[in-house]
Amino acid sequence: MKLKSPKQIESIRESGAILARTLEQLRLLVEPGIALLDIDAECRRILGDYGARPAFLGYMDFPASICTSVNEAVIHGIPDKRKLRDGDVVGLDCGVEFQGFISDAAITVPVGTIRPEVRQLLQVTLEALELGIAAAHPGGRVHDISRAIYRHVNQHNYGVVRPYCGHGVGFAVHEEPQVPNYVSSGPNPRLKPGMVLAVEPMINLGGDDVDVLSDDWTVVTTDRSISAHFEHTIAIREGGVDVLTRLPEAVEVS
Ligand code: MG
Ligand code: MG
Repeated sequence: MKLKSPKQIESIRESGAILARTLEQLRLLVEPGIALLDIDAECRRILGDYGARPAFLGYMDFPASICTSVNEAVIHGIPDKRKLRDGDVVGLDCGVEFQGFISDAAITVPVGTIRPEVRQLLQVTLEALELGIAAAHPGGRVHDISRAIYRHVNQHNYGVVRPYCGHGVGFAVHEEPQVPNYVSSGPNPRLKPGMVLAVEPMINLGGDDVDVLSDDWTVVTTDRSISAHFEHTIAIREGGVDVLTRLPEAVEVS
């Protein structure tokens, strides 16, 4: 596990601020009729304007600048010609590299008018992310985050995706440790100042099983129920936790 210095965390914060602004601009583009490829193109353009690079492009040969995961797609959807339709939800998951430092964040966005049960899924998943972040303290443990996420989501009988989870980030797209969205039997390291983590609940309206489509990327719910995904990059520091991928005007220090 690679700890980051306060100076390096400030650089990841710059990367994260660019990412927050980019996702906000992309969120505003989402409406019935827009093609996923148009969202990808706009993402590339915005990041270029900031002098940043899409960190996912080319990562393990991923072919796009952003993951666009529609409805039953959980994560890793590849943008294509598909046009969003009223009632869809689309996950936008983006990694940004700015001056060598990487941040990672995701939002799930309603397209037009969505069913109340889907709106609640999005709301609960976002709440779970915030509760997971609130449970992180220097001196605590990674599973404090996992437990807070799982407890909240489990009250609603949603499916918690297990094979994919949060992770260290900052110098690379994926670093140790893993940050599961349930209390796993795996490693449960102490949260130390200098740790930078992507926290990212992936929650299904139905069961928790997932499959990977034949494109070898797109993860979908096995029962094809709707899935939601929200993600922030956070930094553990002496005395608290910073969220590095909030909109800068809403940067929160706990
Ligand atoms: Mg992500
Ligand atoms: Mg991530």
